[in-house]
Amino acid sequence: MSKNATSSDVAGESVTLETGLEAFQSSPEFSGPVEGLDGHDCNDHFAHIYETREEKFEAAVPFVRHGLERGERIAYVVDQSTETEVRSTLRAAGIDVPAAVGSGALVFYTVDETYLRDGSFDPHEMIQFYADATAEATEEFEALRLVAEMSWIRDDGTTIEQLMEYESKINELFDHEDVLAICQYDRDLFDPELIQDVIRTHPHLIYDGAACHNFYYTPPEELFGDDAPVHENERMLRTLRERTTAKAELQARERFLKELYDVTADSDQSFEETVRRLLELGSERFGLEIGYFARTTTDETVEIVEAVGDHDRIATSVTDTLRDTYCEKLLAAPGRIAVTDAAEADWTADRAYEQFGLDAYFATTVHVSGAEYGTLCFASERPREEPYTETERTYLDLMGQWIESELERQQRETFLQESYQITADPTLTFETKLERLLDFGREWMGLEAAGVTHLPAWDDRFRNEFTIGYGDDADDESDVMWTDPGEGCFCREVIESDDPVGMADVRATEWEDDPIHREHGLSCYLGTKVMNGSTPYGTLWVGSTEPRDREFTDTERTFLELMGQWVSYEIEREHREQALEESNARLEQFAYAASHDLQEPLRMVSSYLRLIESQYGDALDGDGEEFLEFAVDGADRMREMIDGLLAYSRVETRGDPFEPVDLETVLEDVRQDLQLQIEDTNAEITAATLPRVKGDDNQLRQVVQNLLENAITYSGDSAPRIRIDANRRKQKWVISVRDNGIGIEPEEQDRIFDIFDRLHNREEYEGTGLGLALCQRIVERHDGEIWVESEPGNGSTFSFTLPAVADRD
Ligand code: ADP
Repeated sequence: MSKNATSSDVAGESVTLETGLEAFQSSPEFSGPVEGLDGHDCNDHFAHIYETREEKFEAAVPFVRHGLERGERIAYVVDQSTETEVRSTLRAAGIDVPAAVGSGALVFYTVDETYLRDGSFDPHEMIQFYADATAEATEEFEALRLVAEMSWIRDDGTTIEQLMEYESKINELFDHEDVLAICQYDRDLFDPELIQDVIRTHPHLIYDGAACHNFYYTPPEELFGDDAPVHENERMLRTLRERTTAKAELQARERFLKELYDVTADSDQSFEETVRRLLELGSERFGLEIGYFARTTTDETVEIVEAVGDHDRIATSVTDTLRDTYCEKLLAAPGRIAVTDAAEADWTADRAYEQFGLDAYFATTVHVSGAEYGTLCFASERPREEPYTETERTYLDLMGQWIESELERQQRETFLQESYQITADPTLTFETKLERLLDFGREWMGLEAAGVTHLPAWDDRFRNEFTIGYGDDADDESDVMWTDPGEGCFCREVIESDDPVGMADVRATEWEDDPIHREHGLSCYLGTKVMNGSTPYGTLWVGSTEPRDREFTDTERTFLELMGQWVSYEIEREHREQALEESNARLEQFAYAASHDLQEPLRMVSSYLRLIESQYGDALDGDGEEFLEFAVDGADRMREMIDGLLAYSRVETRGDPFEPVDLETVLEDVRQDLQLQIEDTNAEITAATLPRVKGDDNQLRQVVQNLLENAITYSGDSAPRIRIDANRRKQKWVISVRDNGIGIEPEEQDRIFDIFDRLHNREEYEGTGLGLALCQRIVERHDGEIWVESEPGNGSTFSFTLPAVADRD
């Protein structure tokens, strides 16, 4: 059969299901608790009682699909429906019918070929038919699965007794063979008596979309014979009682759940208060007057976190040694202890009994993130009469689980908070943060050591870059500990995996041969990959020389991964900064070379030009004078550019520390420097009251000066009208310089900030194309931005942001 054709369309069906029953459990069309009957393994024979055609196929389709998916043969006996009808229904449900029929996985039979093959119904013959068909099917397929329409019974002379005898025989046969079946009964077609018998003889019934655990099922021995009525009465009475008890249990459970919810859902309440209320509730419900939640610590003591009831040794905040306590008993076999009478449990000779005198004890262990945390206990100084019910057990477990999940949540929060406090501290260096983080991590997981390794690209050997808690002097071990990772497991496995890799106990695994274990004794280990951008950098790990008695939990893995991500991020940042610094250093070197090495020959050119001018000036004709002027001019311009470049390259490295700067004063100074230009061009400069900002006084002066100079220079024909404004935006000031000049084409507005980029030639406007590049670099050093808004012919507005001065400055 074709698996592809059938597996894709119905959600919730799985190919790993074991019995026919599970086809219904997992089918979205069905509901109801489907369980095997006590004492009857026969889950393989269903009666389906239906009223409509849709209902009939609602059960048959998932049953067939499931069988095909499991590689079984389906024998479909049609009577009421035609084969064509069944085929098209199966096809409409997405089953590849031609493929299934072609491979022999789906076979259609008529009633005349099966039930009535000898002309009338013969139970023995039919059982034989099943046995043969199953034998044949299982040669090639996993099992035989039968869907049978039972409508034929109506017209046949078959008696009810015959049929029922036959059905109960089937149960027997199906118990031992690889065969399962649905017999379909149309309720409208049959007498109520027959339907009643169908109900009695099938351990499982499908009715109205539910696969039912059939408590009306009557085993064959009860159905026939002289004792039948006695058996039946007893079964009915038992069922009655069971159902009533089940209902009462269910109600009790519901009430408990509601109470539990009420107590735990109050978010204003502290953890201790909630625990206290839980203890009160449990103590009342279980009829045990003492309740306590205790925390056990590694040094074999118990601390009672909260307690209710009146007992001189069991009270809130009391600390005791674990020895000879009831908790010790519980922790020796983690899970739940339910003792109603200490004497019956043979506890009365124990020291714990002597000390505490508790006769009833009902308790569960509490684990947090997989590690033992403590115990939740209820107890009484008197024995309890009744055994603990299932509901009470569930209730105790639920209380324990609530405490566990709450503590886990707290733990997660603390972890995140503490690690955040370390990593976000601006006063710490990366090394100190890393050390504290690793220290925190190993302690949190109860391990000795932690570290970061690096796998440099050039020699493919891991190096211990940073280690704590491992060996006396961690530094000494750098470079020597890690060998060729091709051999080892620890680092190699981690670097090759996207998820953290953990080994709680390396003994008896292939890790045991790793030199890191053999020579350095590391016996338990959890590591995560550290990346530098997209290249693997190394590993972040925690571990111990002692093996660990429990696996690493998901929480621990997640936290290590988070730490790894932080380290990756920092390493990447450091590398980026390093790269930037290097490029800055190169630029500055170049500028240094430019200023010193180029300025010298340039000076020579200039002085010789002046010499020519003074000594041979008279000998030059008009052209000669003009050429000389060009040469002098070129040399001047070159000096300007070199000076500008030098200033540009030094913005980061030679800037002054930031201090409060009064922009009013800055503007005043700039006005004075530009006085000549202002007068020459008749420029009018107005300004709003300017704020104090935080920055480098000299650099800010350069920015304002450049912008004003540009505003004057690119003013066009009319006299420059310039307006300076300042607007507060949260922690920043936006300073803008607006002019009424020539403006800038939109597509040019970005490139004017590039170094040496100009929109005009020197004949039109003087300039080096460095001014705005310098402004941008200065503003960026101040953590700000600079931009221009402009309409050609309609002036430009240059704006930039600067950090505001904090109020206390
Ligand atoms: P320059 O030394 O050429 O002025 P800048 O970096 O200061 O160099 O400016 C780059 C280019 O941006 C200028 O050449 C000019 O074309 C254009 N520009 C700068 N400021 C203005 C302005 N206020 N109005 C119009 N264009 C401007």
